[in-house]
Amino acid sequence: MIAIDKTKFKPPSSLTDKNRKKAFEKNAIEKKYTSGNKYKTKEVQTILNNLYNKKCAFCEDKLLNSPKHIEHYRPKDFAKRKKCNSENSYFWLSFSWDNLLLACTSCNSSKGSCFDIKGTRIKYSDYKNIPLHNLQTTITELNKIEKPLLVNPEQVSKTFLIKNLWFNFEGKILSKNEYLRYTIRICNLNRKELIEKRMLILNDIRNEILQKKFVVINIKITIDTNKTL
Ligand SMILES: [Zn+2]
Repeated sequence: MIAIDKTKFKPPSSLTDKNRKKAFEKNAIEKKYTSGNKYKTKEVQTILNNLYNKKCAFCEDKLLNSPKHIEHYRPKDFAKRKKCNSENSYFWLSFSWDNLLLACTSCNSSKGSCFDIKGTRIKYSDYKNIPLHNLQTTITELNKIEKPLLVNPEQVSKTFLIKNLWFNFEGKILSKNEYLRYTIRICNLNRKELIEKRMLILNDIRNEILQKKFVVINIKITIDTNKTL
């Protein structure tokens, strides 16, 4: 996971256009998400691709030729998986700019609609009369109340991630921080294919170190030999 600064981009106007507004209002009446892929506008896709450098928000896998999912940080649908403790839908945030991330198929399907929190759950009734254009950047306010366990790369600093995430010699990603641990588990960040990719990088580093060590040993031998002479 890498820290992402979304503040340099204004919310895309396509998220609050006529079509989205209509869909938003329909969802509000039905109290669930019924709008297909309407959040997936070309504008949103282009900005997220640039912002995330075509990498998954959670596992950082490169998405050059693979499907790129526009992921809802707070789920638009109700959770169906047993690994989540809660079943909540944030359908009213389906077209909110700060609720949209870029994710790979595996993280997207593993996370599903899981969104467990440590604070107080916000309900639709708390935000009922707020128009769509005022729901584009509410994440800081919502996170303060809900204290979500899932880490959002747009809400953490690079220092926090460097300090709290590390890899072991088996290619697993680890943390002692409970929010990162939840994110690792819920997005399945220690799945086989990610471990294999990390091991390739780890082996390259190992080889480089071994080669450098060999040079050092050689120098030492030369010096020792000279001394002996
Ligand atoms: Zn991923």
